[in-house]
Amino acid sequence: MNTERHQITVRGLVVDVVRKNIKHLHLAVYPPAGRIRVAVPLRVNDEAVRLAVITRLAWINRHRRKFAGQERQSVREYISGESHYFQGRRYRLNVVYQDGPAHVAIRNNGAIDLFVRQGSDTSQRERVLRAWYRRQLKALIPPLIAKWKSAIAVEVAEWGVKQMKTKWGVCNIRAHRIWLNLELAKRPIQCLEYVIVHELVHLLERLHSERFMELMDKFMPHWRLRREELNRSALGHETWDY
Ligand SMILES: [Zn+2]
Repeated sequence: MNTERHQITVRGLVVDVVRKNIKHLHLAVYPPAGRIRVAVPLRVNDEAVRLAVITRLAWINRHRRKFAGQERQSVREYISGESHYFQGRRYRLNVVYQDGPAHVAIRNNGAIDLFVRQGSDTSQRERVLRAWYRRQLKALIPPLIAKWKSAIAVEVAEWGVKQMKTKWGVCNIRAHRIWLNLELAKRPIQCLEYVIVHELVHLLERLHSERFMELMDKFMPHWRLRREELNRSALGHETWDY
């Protein structure tokens, strides 16, 4: 498909313009930095894009301010009383200083107990919790990959989890390898599943083309809702494209 990308600057804001074979103009603001992206039909020129952005400046700035606020909230100290998310649910963190090995336990009443050694500092506490998220996520992924690689009829040679700043998932098409963002452990499992499907569909279609959307519609009819949920603001500073 014929897709062309470039950037323009409107009133000091950098705007990513994607020109492709679509009927309507779509404008979006993405966290964390408030990146502005406009997808426009092929026939719409930059002057028209500029005008569209200017008429929506109030909306754009409202979203950018919202993301900036979330960025501030997202600083974590890993102390008792903080909210932390796991599989889309909010938990109250309860830090327990003790002498045994560090570990994490989740309680039904909505608390995550973080057991650390006496004198552990913020980065040590963060490391223990992050390792726990990683183990939880790594346990959730294999059944989902197994389910979807046969549904989509693709091969996955390798997968992994890593902390990424700007992407929920990455697909290396030639190596049939996918990477999933560690942050997905904090989101509902439906969101994790959506990202897995998205990355596996890339094995059939490299670009976010119309064909890609059609394949997504076919395999996961409600994928747009899941994407929305994934990018919803509640959990803080992560987001993203993929
Ligand atoms: Zn993609």
